[in-house]
Amino acid sequence: MLFEPPIPVLLPHGLFDEDGRCHRQGELRPLTGREEWALAQAGEQLGPRTVSALLASCLGRLGAYPNVDASLAAALTRGDRHHLALHLRARMYGDRLMLVARCPAPGCGAMADVDVCLSALAPERPDAAPEVLRVVLPEGHAEVREPTGEDDAVLWDVEGSREERSALLWSRLVEVEGRPLSPGDWRALPAKSRHAVALALAEGTTAPDLGLLARCPRCSAWLELELDPFALLARELRGGAERLETEVHVLAFHYHWSETDILALPRSRRWRYLELLRRELDGRPLVDGWS
Ligand SMILES: [Zn+2]
Repeated sequence: MLFEPPIPVLLPHGLFDEDGRCHRQGELRPLTGREEWALAQAGEQLGPRTVSALLASCLGRLGAYPNVDASLAAALTRGDRHHLALHLRARMYGDRLMLVARCPAPGCGAMADVDVCLSALAPERPDAAPEVLRVVLPEGHAEVREPTGEDDAVLWDVEGSREERSALLWSRLVEVEGRPLSPGDWRALPAKSRHAVALALAEGTTAPDLGLLARCPRCSAWLELELDPFALLARELRGGAERLETEVHVLAFHYHWSETDILALPRSRRWRYLELLRRELDGRPLVDGWS
């Protein structure tokens, strides 16, 4: 069967190897029907490991890495993973995203439209980002790095209060004078130092800014929402799951292909065959201009 070429994606941060070389240029393959189906069944919250497996299956090469497996995908920053999800979504459903949100103002509750261009959320950043950000604290020189899928996977497994989980994450991201921190070390830092580290990361991050703002049409209050690109993709695929089943049924019925073969096709190929089938059944020419 024909396949669809991958699209090039330049990661905002990229993966640094042991020699400090950064690998940013990736290739994104379209989701196959099998991946669409798995995501549609994955539930409301996609775990970080599910996301890594998904990215491993649709990322072709990344810089000098000819293949991206789940552990390499987990080593990508959270921002790079979100960047890829936004590109996957734009490829499947288009660049424009229309959301509806309820106004939180007391006594209002009106619905507001939020109109988003994904390419504006995830712009290409030609300039390379540093592997770590540096901050000078009274306690010494600190380095902070962006959180990765692996950090998210560790947090996913840990029970505990918001503060405990936050301290665990920061202890993984920050070193002071070249020394790793324990969660207790992080919490023992003065608030001013912790704030300086958080500010350095917020200002230096290459992650897409997923905070959206909209105005309530009734009371003009500002609505703030945070976009989760993987949850969005899963929600949209869940909405299309029945259609996917119908596509498999129609293609299997007419072409006698197996379910496995049909689900190995990306959506654009399935839709192209369905279009050809429609023309065939309508008695129209299969290619425009041919009789
Ligand atoms: Zn309102």
